[in-house]
Amino acid sequence: MKKNIYVTQPSLPDLEDFIVYLRQIWESKMLTNNGPFHQQFEKELADFLGVKHISVFTNTTLALMISLRALEIKGEVITTPYTFVATSHALHWNNIKPVFCDIKYADGNIDESKIEALITPETSAIMPVLTYGHPCDFKKISEIAKAHGLKVIYDAAHAFNVKEDGASVLNFGDLAILSFHATKIFNTFEGGAIICHDQKTKERIDYLKNFGFKDEVTVVGPGINAKMNEFQAALGLLQLKKVNSYIEKNKAIHDIYENALKNIKGIGLFAKKQSIDYNYSYYPILVKDDFPLTRDQLYDKLKKNGIYARRYFYPLVTEFKPYNSMVKAKSDLEIAYKVADQILCLPIYPGLASDEVDRIINLIYEEK
Ligand SMILES: *Cc1c(COP(=O)(O)O)cnc(C)c1O
Repeated sequence: MKKNIYVTQPSLPDLEDFIVYLRQIWESKMLTNNGPFHQQFEKELADFLGVKHISVFTNTTLALMISLRALEIKGEVITTPYTFVATSHALHWNNIKPVFCDIKYADGNIDESKIEALITPETSAIMPVLTYGHPCDFKKISEIAKAHGLKVIYDAAHAFNVKEDGASVLNFGDLAILSFHATKIFNTFEGGAIICHDQKTKERIDYLKNFGFKDEVTVVGPGINAKMNEFQAALGLLQLKKVNSYIEKNKAIHDIYENALKNIKGIGLFAKKQSIDYNYSYYPILVKDDFPLTRDQLYDKLKKNGIYARRYFYPLVTEFKPYNSMVKAKSDLEIAYKVADQILCLPIYPGLASDEVDRIINLIYEEK
């Protein structure tokens, strides 16, 4: 019996190392509320990523929701349907209407040439996604935002430590949001963060994630509880020491897939640019019409053989309630629907052995 292989598997530091931190938590009795690990983690994380101000969260969905509150976003926000449903949910929970823009076939990111046509007097922001960590056209998006007085919030859940020309992509936009969920390359079991550009904005975000408390007796607004606890922050500190090795191991797996699959008729790969340091957290392929199997047939075949690839992102957010009623014509989201129908993310994680990668490649080769 061959063992089952899932699309990802969380990477963890040595348990012995974590126990040292747990002892400190047991002794200090500081479990949450901006404790010593929380403070140290924010500092080390900002240094590691090359960003100035960061606020860590118990999860990303709450971070996305607070990012909208922090900038007082209202009305309509232009985003894409090719994402995890939390992007749109964060808007919906703030009574903001998501307006869905199509994506580009080349990288799965928002098609910046289609943004301006969607702007109305109600539009207050653009919320693009850095799909699979692929950088957006930051320059163009920022020009559009400036011309129309819009804020930009990047859902950078996939973009931990991604760099373009050596600089972090997390510094673009007014805010960028990271995810440390168990399925991401860098995890704190659950967790997330908001990156911003000034101390004042960080303070506002910090108040909002702690019920709006500025000090013991002052509440500055309707905050919520979205704080990261000491347990998560301690794990984050240990993960920071390991994450470069996770990325290196994923790159090695990426390279095996890339070499094996780049010249197969009917299999499309997203182009990689020399100027970008990727984090290799996903290995997405496009199963096109001229591949002998449909995407779902290949997905089922892999599954029968114990390989649990994932159709990520499928279905599109615009297939779910209440967003399905917000789409006027599916043809406006033609590329998003096409990519959602062709996409298959193959297993990739640091613990995946190269002979297991070969097993997956061979199952694809059998069909070519
Ligand atoms: C994982 C993810 C989220 C949500 O993150 P959580 O930490 O699970 O709340 C949001 N957006 C995208 C694009 C994601 O991949």
